[in-house]
Amino acid sequence: MNTAIVGINWGDEGKGRMVDLVSRDNDVVVRYQGGGNAGHTIINEYGKFALHLLPSGIFTKGVVNILGNGVALDCENLYKEIEEVRARGVDVTPENLKISDRASLLLPWHRDLDSLEEARLADKKYGSTKQGIAPFYSDKYSKKTVMAGELNYPEHLRSHLKDLLEWKNLTLKNVYGAPETTMDDLEKWIESYGEKIRPFVCDTGEYLKNATKEGKNVLFEAQLGALRDLDYGIYPYTTSSNTIAAFAPVGSGLPGAKLDKIVGVVKAYSSCVGEGPFTCEWFGEKAEKLREAGDEYGAKTGRPRRVGPIDIVATRYGVECQGATVIALTKLDVLSVMDEIPICAKYELDGKIIDRFPFPTLLDSCKPVTEYMKGWKSDISGCRKWEDLPKEARDYVLYVEREIGCKIGYVSVGPERDSIIIR
Ligand code: GDP
Repeated sequence: MNTAIVGINWGDEGKGRMVDLVSRDNDVVVRYQGGGNAGHTIINEYGKFALHLLPSGIFTKGVVNILGNGVALDCENLYKEIEEVRARGVDVTPENLKISDRASLLLPWHRDLDSLEEARLADKKYGSTKQGIAPFYSDKYSKKTVMAGELNYPEHLRSHLKDLLEWKNLTLKNVYGAPETTMDDLEKWIESYGEKIRPFVCDTGEYLKNATKEGKNVLFEAQLGALRDLDYGIYPYTTSSNTIAAFAPVGSGLPGAKLDKIVGVVKAYSSCVGEGPFTCEWFGEKAEKLREAGDEYGAKTGRPRRVGPIDIVATRYGVECQGATVIALTKLDVLSVMDEIPICAKYELDGKIIDRFPFPTLLDSCKPVTEYMKGWKSDISGCRKWEDLPKEARDYVLYVEREIGCKIGYVSVGPERDSIIIR
């Protein structure tokens, strides 16, 4: 059985906690896109973690975790993350972590270029996390980086990197007036980080093919959400890869795979990190209150997240893009502080009410149409059964389910692994 866990909105929906929960029913967990700019927060018996690149199944005994060919493989950050997790008692070995030999490497200059370009853009910046993701994917698609498997062929690797270095220095020097990189720098980088991750590199496509033949369950883990998808999101305020479930087979190493179950993760209210249109956004005191209640500060950057009520228009679109078969609604407990539960039900565009997510350029002209439902004003974090929830909370969940057109099968009422109601 193949399951994908994907974000329906702008990211930070709580995918990590869902993967952590569901990974115990799976044999393999694969990250298929994105890079170390993720911040999947997980709370379990080992403590609290913000995973950036490691798949969220890394804590589950017996699960094999894979970084697929679609990820931006940042050896430096990955190695540091492995060390951090190990220091807290979690086993990370070539047995439970496998890196695709076809994953392309994020090279030291990608991070530099990200910062240089954001600085050049000044007040027109995209809100990058400066982890080098956009320069990396640009280079991957221009065929100007190296694959992890090349670490096994040192002579070839050095000659390939030398060619890339010559080319990249033209950009660093002539476009940005930045210091050039030297082959010495790259040698140090290979030694310090490339060599450390090399033992994990293998033909993960072959591994996955065999695992599937043996009837093993595979879980595909996404980063960010549908609205940040390069092709379907709020371009250019998207990420530089495809976050949607349809890309999971391509980015994982199982291009012919069919997904049997797609769990779309939706937060009970909205949050968004960085720049770009965010129609349902709240400002001022009420935003601050919601941000505090939901602890909405970036796991990677610490930046305060922009917040607002659930956006039905954007969520319905996200559900369609993901082809979600079931929804996990997270952080319902955060709304317990509210007398009334706000809902961005529709948009107003040029005096007309619309319920279809518009072309990105039009989003700046859209205004939210807000409705309210009665709040429940009680602590629901201990609820474990649907019937345990107050009627008002159930009504809210049922309203969202009807409006977005997809069954809500999981309701999360706290960050801990078992703070969940399975319907
Ligand atoms: P991801 O990137 O989609 O995995 O999401 P993040 O980890 O960035 O953000 C989700 C945050 O919400 C994390 O801090 C989680 O611990 C927390 N969280 C997840 N589910 C719940 C929930 O149901 N209730 C509460 N209060 N917090 C939750």
